Amino acid sequence: MEDRRTDALAYHREGRPGKIEVVPTKSVSTWRDLSLAYSPGVAEPCREIYANPLDAFQYTARGNLVAVVSNGTAVLGLGNIGPLASKPVMEGKGVLFKRFAGIDVFDIEIDAPTADDVIRFCEMLEPTVGGINLEDIRSPDCFVIEKELKERLDIPVFHDDQHGTAIIGGAALLNALELVGKKLDEVRIVFSGAGASALATASHLLRLGADPAKLIMCDADGPVYKGRDTDMNPYKERFAADTPHRTLAEAMAGADVFVGLSVARVVTREMVASMAADPIIFALANPDPEILPEEVEAVRDDAIIATGRSDYPNQVNNVLGFPFIFRGALDVRATVVNEEMMMAATRALAELARADVPEAVRTAYDDEPIAFGRDYLIPKPVDSRVLFHVAPAVAEAAMRTGVARIDVDLDEYVDRLRA
Ligand code: NAP
Ligand code: MG
Repeated sequence: MEDRRTDALAYHREGRPGKIEVVPTKSVSTWRDLSLAYSPGVAEPCREIYANPLDAFQYTARGNLVAVVSNGTAVLGLGNIGPLASKPVMEGKGVLFKRFAGIDVFDIEIDAPTADDVIRFCEMLEPTVGGINLEDIRSPDCFVIEKELKERLDIPVFHDDQHGTAIIGGAALLNALELVGKKLDEVRIVFSGAGASALATASHLLRLGADPAKLIMCDADGPVYKGRDTDMNPYKERFAADTPHRTLAEAMAGADVFVGLSVARVVTREMVASMAADPIIFALANPDPEILPEEVEAVRDDAIIATGRSDYPNQVNNVLGFPFIFRGALDVRATVVNEEMMMAATRALAELARADVPEAVRTAYDDEPIAFGRDYLIPKPVDSRVLFHVAPAVAEAAMRTGVARIDVDLDEYVDRLRA
């Protein structure tokens, strides 16, 4: 623990403080270069863009630039630490965008505690960037902000804490169900958590085909049921179940799938023991899951388990999603990230996990045997194939649903990403 603290602080402090810098992409060595990069030459692209706004994609970095915007109200496991203290996280997000998908990021931490402030800020920011990744904004503000911005802006706006989890968890669930021979529209699903990530994941599972009548969400007060009047909001209300259950334990008895997006240690061995045969247990609370895999294994040997952690199999890690979703969206100049694009990302991830794993990926993981199965439901984050599987799937869905502003040839696009 103390080691990690020392290492992390040194990592951030040493050399140039922080984790990112801005680097010019054109030569600026001669007087001529300078007169092109700035006045008077720079007026020419300005005129072109003024006459045709889409030319900004051709003459500026906008088309490969994403703003990671946070007001610091729900940062990782740290809570409402405010915008300034959230900056290392947002810089880190920028590093991941660049490392995995070559996307440049401005990390933008704003002193904007209300939803209205964030909305107005992002509206004003639209000319600068090709997309906005909302990050670590508390629920339910995050729902209002995203919905409003999706309507007002012509660039993709994506709240990763909601949809990243939904997309990757969804892929893991499709594959887990495949392995145990159950169907998504037939299984009983119980959620612990009814916040940003849980509500988005539940919505995504319904889109993928889960039966709303077989889904129960639980929060700190237990099951969200029809007629409940404590700690409700319109977002939870949508999932209010017609159920007699009043505790998580009651809801979990006989359930096929558990999805935890809440807090550590709320699931007991007894609850796990009461689930149906071949239970699927996604205990995703970070850093400590709703129940540890070894606790599950102590009471059953037929469970499929995923967590948010890298030290257990099946890590549901958002880095499998956001870089590639934005890559695909930006490359067809999509105006939104819509539901079809999110479903395409889920299906592409699920499919890739079923394919053979190349040597290079196995080597990165100490040659541990990686093959589709209970301990390998989704690709590993360092698998370079994720880029050219997921981004084209997202781009294809954008073109198919009419939200792309340019068409790309998918085969050529895959080749370009592979290169
Ligand atoms: P959030 O919006 O704050 O939601 C937290 C939810 O947990 C709320 O609905 C809250 O209930 C509920 N909760 C609190 N105590 C509970 C309890 N004792 N029993 C049951 N539910 C309880 O947070 P979030 O962004 O969705 O994140 C939730 C958790 O998921 C965090 O641990 C986060 O680290 C994890 N997460 C993991 C991944 C991943 O693995 N890839 C991705 C995203 C999030 P109320 O509504 O009653 O307050
Ligand atoms: Mg986050």
